[in-house]
Amino acid sequence: MEENMVQDTFNSLKVDGIFYLNEKLEPIFTKGVHHLSDEELIFSFYNFKKYPLNSKILPIPINGEGAPHKEGFINTEYGPALFSAFQVRDSNKFGDNRGFLIFIQLIEQPFLDLLNQSTLTTISIDNDILDKNLNGLPLWGEGVIVEGVKPYRHILFQDTNGLPVIILKIKHSKGDLPPLLNEHSLIFISILSLFIYLFYHLITHTIIKPVKKLALSIKLIDEELGFKLLDDKFSVKELMVVSNNVNQLINTVQQQNDLLRKQATTDQLTNLMNRHGLLAVLEIHKDLCIRQGISFAVVMCDIDHFKQYNDHFGHLQGDQALVDVAQILKQQCKRANDYCARYGGEEFTLLFSDMSENDLQKKLLSISDAMKTLNIVHPKSQTAPHMTFSCGATIIKATDVVNHSLPISDMFKCADQALYEAKSTGRNNFVIKEFVTLAPDE
Ligand code: GH3
Ligand code: MG
Ligand code: MG
Repeated sequence: MEENMVQDTFNSLKVDGIFYLNEKLEPIFTKGVHHLSDEELIFSFYNFKKYPLNSKILPIPINGEGAPHKEGFINTEYGPALFSAFQVRDSNKFGDNRGFLIFIQLIEQPFLDLLNQSTLTTISIDNDILDKNLNGLPLWGEGVIVEGVKPYRHILFQDTNGLPVIILKIKHSKGDLPPLLNEHSLIFISILSLFIYLFYHLITHTIIKPVKKLALSIKLIDEELGFKLLDDKFSVKELMVVSNNVNQLINTVQQQNDLLRKQATTDQLTNLMNRHGLLAVLEIHKDLCIRQGISFAVVMCDIDHFKQYNDHFGHLQGDQALVDVAQILKQQCKRANDYCARYGGEEFTLLFSDMSENDLQKKLLSISDAMKTLNIVHPKSQTAPHMTFSCGATIIKATDVVNHSLPISDMFKCADQALYEAKSTGRNNFVIKEFVTLAPDE
């Protein structure tokens, strides 16, 4: 044995101790050499007198056929170790018992490295928990124990007496879980995020903000009724189309509004201003008089015996006569602030700005002459062979303003009274009455 168990044997067998004990368990050959460092090791585990429990590492010798052996773990002075013990017999299978051959291999990092390589796991010694409660730790050789999800598990190795020798910490797999986010996916997500960010800004600047602006402009048009055309420029063609269409709509609404306003203040038959328009213009004259002292005349004209004309010639011809008379009256209102309106029926109202009584008389005579020249034949008139009318007028002057007030109803009342006088004094004439405030304005 001395010859065979040289240094190289330990290196090649990767064992750190070889022992031969005879059948009386007396050491015949004992040699310890660290198989990597060649350092001499002196073991004492086989001193069964001192460590009687260690004798359990030996297989029970048999007399029948075979040579039993036993493997396991043992604590030595150099740390935990693997042992392998064989019964030695004479050369045939039934030979006499000649003792035991024991091999020892220390469980050290190089051994674990080898284990790691061959099992593709990370196994390390974790004897730190040896002092703690080891109950429940899975034992080597017990088989798989189902535990919760853990990155590693501990396995307790015991010697033949059930004493803890070593605890190994075993990672479940050498390969890590595939990372959810690797380098490529991170780059992809970054680029995608950048695109989303840019897209968001593009949409915000080209669509969302302009649409909001457009909506606000349209809302303002509705609230202020200003009908201001939209002049915003949009980079998106469709928004420009919406803006243009809204402008077209505004134009149409404005035109319709103008038409409605005109229709609301215009008499359909004669195309003169109607009573509604007349009242608006009267307000302007009234204001001019109150603020700037500009006088104005209100004249009420009523066609004489028009009922008889209608009765004689029919309503249609009566309408035509009204249109012709309206034409004559309108021609008499030449200045910018002179107005002619159809008050209703066969009655007309004339407004003359800044006109003296003398000039008004001349104007009314001129109108009467124009009627005579127009010569609408009226056989049923008791006044003249042609259509005539009677006028009542009043001139409102700055001196008539009382407390910044000029009641419009009084103007009509005065003019009406004058007209009544003209009618009752023969018709086809005019009366100018001084303006007097008759009653408080309603
Ligand atoms: P006077 O000289 O007192 O004013 O008598 P008159 O007949 O003119 O007055 P009256 O008030 O009795 O009659 C007015 C007539 O005017 C009655 C009505 O048929 C007619 N008339 C009112 N409006 C219209 C209209 O739009 N078209 C036509 N054809 N006739 C109208
Ligand atoms: Mg009348
Ligand atoms: Mg009349």
